[in-house]
Amino acid sequence: MDIIKEMEAYAKQYNVPIMESEGIEFLCNFIRKHHIKRILEVGTAIGYSAICMATVDENIEVVSIERDTERYHCAVENVNAAKLQKRITLCHEDALKCEVTGSFDLIFIDAAKAQYLKFFQRYEKQLNIGGWIVSDNLQFHGFVEHPEIIRSRHLRQMVRKIKNYIEFLKNNGNYDTEFVNIGDGVAISRKKAENL
Ligand code: SAH
Ligand code: MG
Repeated sequence: MDIIKEMEAYAKQYNVPIMESEGIEFLCNFIRKHHIKRILEVGTAIGYSAICMATVDENIEVVSIERDTERYHCAVENVNAAKLQKRITLCHEDALKCEVTGSFDLIFIDAAKAQYLKFFQRYEKQLNIGGWIVSDNLQFHGFVEHPEIIRSRHLRQMVRKIKNYIEFLKNNGNYDTEFVNIGDGVAISRKKAENL
């Protein structure tokens, strides 16, 4: 699809942190393999990953949240150009305030790294049993593994929050989590059946 190539070029030109090709390919294969139909995305940017995910299968529906006005409008244009407005619902709001209805098979968290735990806690009630939470950028350009190279305090705090989130996932008995060394680091957490 031309629109995909155009979005990749736009993201490169304007430094929009869309998923890397290896990561998006992995995510789309994952969606196909597990017959995922209802997806909630936190962090639309310009709609690249939402469009890629919706294109996996014509029964897939995506709800995606973006707080930045310019990116939101850009995403609306791209979704319209891809003729996916019936299956992709875009919300222009802060994901920590937004009210989303319905339940999901997959929640894809790809927004402000310091808030992952809050996103997780806000939306996990709407995740179906056996459903997945995929969290992107957990290596954060290598800073998580090599904090000694960090110079700024702000960055150090962010990396600390990512580490806390990783610990939270590891210790969360309601989920089985696997960390995958793909793109910028992805965690895949599966919600277990209750009282197992
Ligand atoms: N998933 C996209 C990339 C998202 S980049 C893709 O791969 O194509 C992360 C986006 O999350 C940014 O556009 C940023 O504005 C948005 N974001 C960060 N914090 C947010 C929040 N609290 N609520 C909604 N959007 C947020
Ligand atoms: Mg990302």
